[in-house]
Amino acid sequence: MTSYDGTDQTIFPAGAATRTSAAEAAQGEWDAVVVGGGMAGSIVAEQLSQAGHKVLILEAGPGKDLDLAEYESYLSRFYGAVIKDNQSPYPFNPNARMPRSTDTMPVHPGTPRDDFYLVQEDKYCTDTTFTRVLGGTSMHWEGKALRMLPEDFDLQTKYGQGLNWPLSYDDLEPYYRQAEAELGVAAEVEDQAYLGMHFPKGYVFPMHRMPPSYLDQTVARGVDGMRVNLADDDYTLRVRSFPQARNGVPNAAYDGGKGFVPVGAVSTSQVEEGERCQGNTNCVPICPVQAKYHAGKTLAKALRKGNVKIVTQAVASKVEIDEQNQRVTGITIKNYRSLDSDSYETYTVKGTVYVLCAHAIENARLMLASDMQRMSRSKLIGRNLMDHAYLLSWGLLPEPAGTMRGTTCTSGITDLRGGRFRGTQAGFGVDIHNDGWGWATGSPYTDLVELVDKRGLRGPELRRTLGNQISRQLLLAFMIDLLPDRSNTVTVDDRYKDAIGNLKPVVSFKIPPYTMRGAAFARKLATDIFEKLGAEDRTKYDKQSYSAVEHDGQWYNIVGGNHLAGTHIMGTDPANSVVDHTQQSWDHDNLYLVGPGSLPSIGTSNISLTMAALAFRSSTHIARYLRAAKAPATVRS
Ligand SMILES: Cc1cc2nc3c(=O)[nH]c(=O)nc-3n(C[C@H](O)[C@H](O)[C@H](O)COP(=O)(O)OP(=O)(O)OC[C@H]3O[C@@H](n4cnc5c(N)ncnc54)[C@H](O)[C@@H]3O)c2cc1C
Ligand code: SF4
Repeated sequence: MTSYDGTDQTIFPAGAATRTSAAEAAQGEWDAVVVGGGMAGSIVAEQLSQAGHKVLILEAGPGKDLDLAEYESYLSRFYGAVIKDNQSPYPFNPNARMPRSTDTMPVHPGTPRDDFYLVQEDKYCTDTTFTRVLGGTSMHWEGKALRMLPEDFDLQTKYGQGLNWPLSYDDLEPYYRQAEAELGVAAEVEDQAYLGMHFPKGYVFPMHRMPPSYLDQTVARGVDGMRVNLADDDYTLRVRSFPQARNGVPNAAYDGGKGFVPVGAVSTSQVEEGERCQGNTNCVPICPVQAKYHAGKTLAKALRKGNVKIVTQAVASKVEIDEQNQRVTGITIKNYRSLDSDSYETYTVKGTVYVLCAHAIENARLMLASDMQRMSRSKLIGRNLMDHAYLLSWGLLPEPAGTMRGTTCTSGITDLRGGRFRGTQAGFGVDIHNDGWGWATGSPYTDLVELVDKRGLRGPELRRTLGNQISRQLLLAFMIDLLPDRSNTVTVDDRYKDAIGNLKPVVSFKIPPYTMRGAAFARKLATDIFEKLGAEDRTKYDKQSYSAVEHDGQWYNIVGGNHLAGTHIMGTDPANSVVDHTQQSWDHDNLYLVGPGSLPSIGTSNISLTMAALAFRSSTHIARYLRAAKAPATVRS
């Protein structure tokens, strides 16, 4: 049983995040300077500190400690928010802004909207988001933790599409297991061994799978055994449970019978070991009991070792480069005083090695603002921006199916994630959403407004109708692959700056025809599934919306997947990529770019487990780099 006895890895040492001032940090000599305290930055910091290296994390967002009191302040803000979007628990911060889906609206080409954080100029406007507080986007991620398929690593060779990775599924497999341990993944191997995904003999996940919701079981009754034909191949569909980075029931057989101890809420005496998921469907934007993994759990471990320090309210604003040898000489930060003031002090911190973990858009933004494209041999910084394209389809089931119970999504359909059809159209996974039509229509609030305002219902009749309608809602979310395309970009422009003078990211993003062919197939499949289930299809496509895309004479709405990647793409040589297979920059020897920005493709799984596995893998290389740098030079006589 974990307890508040000083040995609990989940407890932050008091004052940890604020103990190091920016001035003090600038005077220190660090082995590694890590930009960003999200999932990638925390894993790298924790791994390097374990190897005995001194690490400084620079974090743009507030984050006094990410202790329980702070976590609860996020919860209170969320409970009191009128609009409960992804960012609603986190304070508005003009000095380290973040995109909000509520900011997204139609853009008229030629007149960009620059009042929001992401400047967008194209007709198609993405509503994708990321978070800039200590803990990063893992504070509000959903926690689905699927592996990529082996074929996702060599899509070009197999199907003539996209890019090959410089490493294979087998190269990454041991690191997938490390990531599954860190994130505490709940799943069963027999559910996950499909389309070539394999596991070492005897492997079990840290925790047993989350039980399928009643809604999953209802959908499975219609879908299991359904056949579809694609590119002359037959596929049989079935509903399958998804791996989840949230606390369930530990598997006693884990780690050769040693079992697994789930990590619960940070800085608290655990009432119940690990704080189990209670199935309240609030995973995005915040889990009230911290059953869901967030990077604070890894940070707590890192901080307890004493080798890691953090400076918060420290926005990395420039990567300093020695033009003679192309090595990084420091990171310049703007250390702002508070969220209410735009006054700041500037410092430069120095280390042996520098690791940018500020996420795909911010890593690229920072490098472009530091004029590093000029020194890049590939000129690919900020290019190949990827994100999953989501097509939402919603219907009303004939009978109540228990919608609004369980985590956001416990199961889905994965049979069309891979296959020969990927030579001509994108693969996809299908999420069965336990949280009703919320994502598509704003339900249940919009249902309530409709029943009261339009149909004049009150009292018991209102309660009955509302309950009946919501518990029959089914939302299928098709997560469609999107390949790297150099014209999908993050750039910077001197015209657009934030409150403390940092250049804002300018995003230009289109949904390519390959993805839209996948979307067209998904649309038809949704109709077939609804028909099988006897559900009334309520899906509407709005061609006036910011998310409207036309394909083959039909309008679709494609919403952002929040899986940003590709902006410092990994490859085999400096002409075709920004980083190598260890995420080391080709152009700057002592610089690593760790995070989803390195992914050469996003395939059909949520990206973070793969990103975390890569962060573990890169940490071993960075530790080796540091050992070599610290070793006494050999003197030849
Ligand atoms: C709504 C939503 C749901 C999601 N659900 C899933 C899911 O179910 N499964 C999945 O695999 N993925 C999911 N994701 C994606 C996932 O959250 C991200 O891929 C992952 O968190 C990225 O981790 P990271 O460490 O690279 O970046 P982040 O977690 O974003 O961390 C970056 C850190 O850098 C800091 N930073 C930024 N700029 C600077 C700067 N200039 N100076 C200093 N610090 C800086 C930030 O404050 C932050 O702490 C979801 C995302 C969203 C938005
Ligand atoms: S369903 Fe509730 S308890 Fe479980 S992870 Fe999501 S928010 Fe946390």
